[in-house]
Amino acid sequence: MVYVQLKNKKLKNIMRNRFTQKNLNSLKLEFKCNEDLLDRVYTSRLLGGEKELVLHGGGNTSVKSTAKDTDGIVHNVIYVKGSGSDLETITPKDFPAVKLDPLIYLLKKKFISDEEMVSFQRKNLIDLSSPNPSVETLVHACINKKFIDHTHSNAILEITNRRNGIALCKSIFGNDVCIIPYVMPGFLLAKKVNQLYKKHPEAKALILYKHGIFTYADDAKSSYELMLKYVNTAERFLKLEKKIRVKSIKTKKLLFKPEKISPLIRGLVSTNKKYIINFRVNKKILETINQVNSNLFLSRGVVTPDHVIRIKPKILVVNIDDCKTYDDIKKIIKSKVSLYKKNYIAYFKKYNKPEYKNKMLDPCPNILAIQNIGVFSLGETYINSIINGDVAELAIKTIGNIEKKTDFQSIPMKEIFNVEYWSLEQAKLSKNKLPLQGNITLITGGLGTIGLATAKKFKSMGSEVILVDIKDEIQSNKKEGFDIYKCDVTNRNTFHNLLLKICKKYGGIDTIISNAGLAIQGDIANLDDNLFTKSFNINLFAHQIVASESVKVMKEQNLGGCLLFNISKQAVNPGPNFGGYGIPKSALMSLCKQYALEYGSIGIRSNGVNADRIESGILTKKMISSRAKARRKTIKDYLSGNLLKLQVNAEDVADSFYNLSISKKTTAAILTVDGGNIEASLR
Ligand code: ZN
Repeated sequence: MVYVQLKNKKLKNIMRNRFTQKNLNSLKLEFKCNEDLLDRVYTSRLLGGEKELVLHGGGNTSVKSTAKDTDGIVHNVIYVKGSGSDLETITPKDFPAVKLDPLIYLLKKKFISDEEMVSFQRKNLIDLSSPNPSVETLVHACINKKFIDHTHSNAILEITNRRNGIALCKSIFGNDVCIIPYVMPGFLLAKKVNQLYKKHPEAKALILYKHGIFTYADDAKSSYELMLKYVNTAERFLKLEKKIRVKSIKTKKLLFKPEKISPLIRGLVSTNKKYIINFRVNKKILETINQVNSNLFLSRGVVTPDHVIRIKPKILVVNIDDCKTYDDIKKIIKSKVSLYKKNYIAYFKKYNKPEYKNKMLDPCPNILAIQNIGVFSLGETYINSIINGDVAELAIKTIGNIEKKTDFQSIPMKEIFNVEYWSLEQAKLSKNKLPLQGNITLITGGLGTIGLATAKKFKSMGSEVILVDIKDEIQSNKKEGFDIYKCDVTNRNTFHNLLLKICKKYGGIDTIISNAGLAIQGDIANLDDNLFTKSFNINLFAHQIVASESVKVMKEQNLGGCLLFNISKQAVNPGPNFGGYGIPKSALMSLCKQYALEYGSIGIRSNGVNADRIESGILTKKMISSRAKARRKTIKDYLSGNLLKLQVNAEDVADSFYNLSISKKTTAAILTVDGGNIEASLR
């Protein structure tokens, strides 16, 4: 029996016990609350810190204790992880307290729907403002121990998700562990656990076939240590297990770059909505996806049910080794994606029933693994593309490890469907779609007053925002949560390389706000040649570099695009001693129109904003006072010297950029943001 052999092998434990009384004590200083709950928070965080156990909100924990309601009545409760929180960073308030006795009573019922279960749990909350208790709350309630830990340990899944997985579990863990056959999370799983747990009171852990593991004890430390014990037993078994040879495809030094493939994929998959696409690769990923039959085993399903909302039922594997050009790659990906969609639609039709009232999700794949290249993960936001990629990477690793020894097996497709379309799973994904969600906006001169105001506006509308600036104030602006790059936009090579980086990280670009500029003053006849050249470099040529390089990416995506130039009212209404600035700006207005003319047919719009008298890094206080003097006005009159008599701010310019970006049928337009100036108005 493997169980006996393992006990005799002195192998180092793979997962280290990180429990220390000192760290627990310091957590107790941080939060003032129920002692049981503090113990609960501490070991939950220890479990959450192990990527091999849980990932991005996976797993859940609980403690049975008491709590007072608002009337001062003390109840027996279960503090259970709230839906949407993450074990690694969990705090006491993330554990809603649910009255325990009603939960036990609920388990006596034959059947209730999951929606009824959720509302029943909410009704029995001690504090109604708490988050929703985990969908696995009832499983926690039925186990008659104080502390309960549940993870989706990879090592356990590597043992259960294979042919004869149940028999193998039995031989490894003996009678220590009770094995629960696969049942979808929710009320019926709780019923099943309740029934089998009562039959095997001697079991120290429950292994949920093709799902994960539960350990439990009367104190937090023991339950945590049991989790480590069984996970490490599984790890030791896996280490000793013989590997069979795997056949991999020929590793080729491909000429194709992932950052050039990303925009192609983005264009092909963004038919129903726009996606952010993140690319990742490492040795472990290639080792698995490069196996000859990876397209077969990576399409067998998920390793644990809740992965389906992240990676869809199947990972799409594509081989591009025979491609000679990016066009060839595009053709192959296009046909593979359309086949994937066809199969997904068939899967939906097969398992959906009209009474479910399900609306089919976007049928395109969430994960594309290109052999010899790496993994492209889609997400509705950048954060989602990363989470989906993390889950995919983990699944690929687990499945790859199983395939080195035997055949990977998932739960049946029907069960995968039931989890994918389970309202409680879909509720975990973001619902409030903002108008620019899935869009990628790049702003040059991003750290200036107008740049930052525009960045805030676009971010608030859901866009991913990338700020580019020559200034070195990147650290101080990191806290705003923007992705900031230092880059000289007058250098084509530098900007080209930056765009490649962005394509690898986000998948492409949708909107460019070409905003970097430099204001110079001086009487035109006496203007220094070098200064005039410099002004042209920044106020005209840099815009051409940014626009032309971006248009190349937009063309690859084939999703249209939006170019927005910060021009200036100087382009139509020159002011004295400002020619050095105004002349390249009037050329910029022509540049803006030229892009509208030449790229309108492929959906790329080009518009400009003529703002005036905005106090900013370009138009400094000092410069305002000298411009006011040049126009023979006081500063106040100068700043509000317009038809509306209103001072115009950076936020007003940001609004104009935004409005132009969503005006889908407007191109070659110049929007004035100057409070009204007849001389600068366009005819
Ligand atoms: Zn679970």
